[in-house]
Amino acid sequence: MSTTPHEIFHRSNAPVTIDEDKCIADKGCTVCVDVCPLDLLAIDMSKGKAYMQFDECWYCMPCEQDCPTGAVKVDIPYLLR
Ligand code: SF4
Ligand code: SF4
Repeated sequence: MSTTPHEIFHRSNAPVTIDEDKCIADKGCTVCVDVCPLDLLAIDMSKGKAYMQFDECWYCMPCEQDCPTGAVKVDIPYLLR
């Protein structure tokens, strides 16, 4: 059995979380998806909400800053603050 990189870096808490009560992706918003330079965020079409699909964040912050409803929260690791 080999361990894939995905498993090595898997964390239960993604650094970027979306407040689904605030997210208006179901009304057509894709701002956070569009601004992420790494394409880490996506819209869950079944829920109509954004979510983090890949956990490789650079903590560059436009997703949090540009979200029109303040639904995006980037949890910057202590060592990077
Ligand atoms: S920018 Fe905010 S409201 Fe728009 S899809 Fe992303 S989380 Fe939802
Ligand atoms: S902080 Fe930057 S890299 Fe991380 S999810 Fe937001 S836009 Fe993408």
